[in-house]
Amino acid sequence: MASITIQSITKTFGTVPVLHDIDLSIADGEFVVLVGPSGCGKSTLLRMIAGLEDITGGEIRIDGRRINEVAPKDRDIAMVFQSYALYPHMTVADNMSYSLKLRKTARERIAEAVGAAAGKLGLDPLLERRPKALSGGQRQRVAMGRAIVRHPKAFLFDEPLSNLDARLREQMRAEIKRLHKAIGATSVYVTHDQIEAMTLADRIVAMHGGIIQQVGNPLDLYDRPANLFVAGFIGSPA
Ligand code: ADP
Ligand code: MG
Repeated sequence: MASITIQSITKTFGTVPVLHDIDLSIADGEFVVLVGPSGCGKSTLLRMIAGLEDITGGEIRIDGRRINEVAPKDRDIAMVFQSYALYPHMTVADNMSYSLKLRKTARERIAEAVGAAAGKLGLDPLLERRPKALSGGQRQRVAMGRAIVRHPKAFLFDEPLSNLDARLREQMRAEIKRLHKAIGATSVYVTHDQIEAMTLADRIVAMHGGIIQQVGNPLDLYDRPANLFVAGFIGSPA
C-alpha cells in the first residue's frame, strides 16, 4: 500500500489552465474516487499521479518520493483504463505476463503470479484465448489481471466500467472493491457516475473546472454538499 500526497498541483496545456492548485492526501489502503463532469481534469490528475503527464507546478509524492524522481519501471503503480488496451495478438496469459517479462522476471515467478491473478479474477478457463474471443466484462477482468500481477502498491482506474452494460458494471464494481481489499492496495478511481462513486469510495473528491469543490465520505457529500455543484452531482434528496 502507498500513501499519495498531492501538493499545490497546477497543470497548463499550452496556455490553457486545466488544474488549479490541487491539494489532496490519500492514505495507505484508502479508496478515493474522483468525480466530476467531463473535461474537469480528472484524467489529467490521474495521469500525473501515474507519472505519465508533466507537472506544471507543485508536486506529487508516493510514499514520500516525488513521482518524477522514480524511474517508470520502479513505480509500483498499475493503471486500468476504459479502453482495455489489451494486446490483440497475445493470449490472455501473455497479456498478463507481458509486464513481468519486460522486467526479466523468472519464468516460474511469472507463472505463479499469472496463476494467482487468474484465480482471483476467475480467468483460469480463458488463459489461452485472445482478446477478440472475450466479452467486455472478461476483457475488463484481464485488464485488471494485468494490473495486479505486479502487486502494485497503488491502483489508478480511469472510468474502467463505462463501456459495460449496467448489470455487468454492478458486478464489476463489487469485484473491484473486493480486489482492492484483497490486494491491500491504495486506489484512486475516476468516474462521472455518482452511483459508482457512492458505492466504492472511502472518500469522494468532487471536482469542477479543475478545482476541488469538496472532499468527504459519501454520506458527508450527500448530507452536506458544499455547494450547488456538489448537490447537483450527488443528487441530494428533495
Ligand atoms: P476529464 O478526465 O475530467 O474528462 P481531462 O483531464 O481529460 O478531463 O481534460 C481536462 C481538460 O484538459 C479538457 O479541457 C481537455 O480538453 C484538456 N486536455 C486534456 N489533455 C490534453 C492535452 N494533451 N492537450 C491539450 N489539452 C488537453
Ligand atoms: Mg477522463
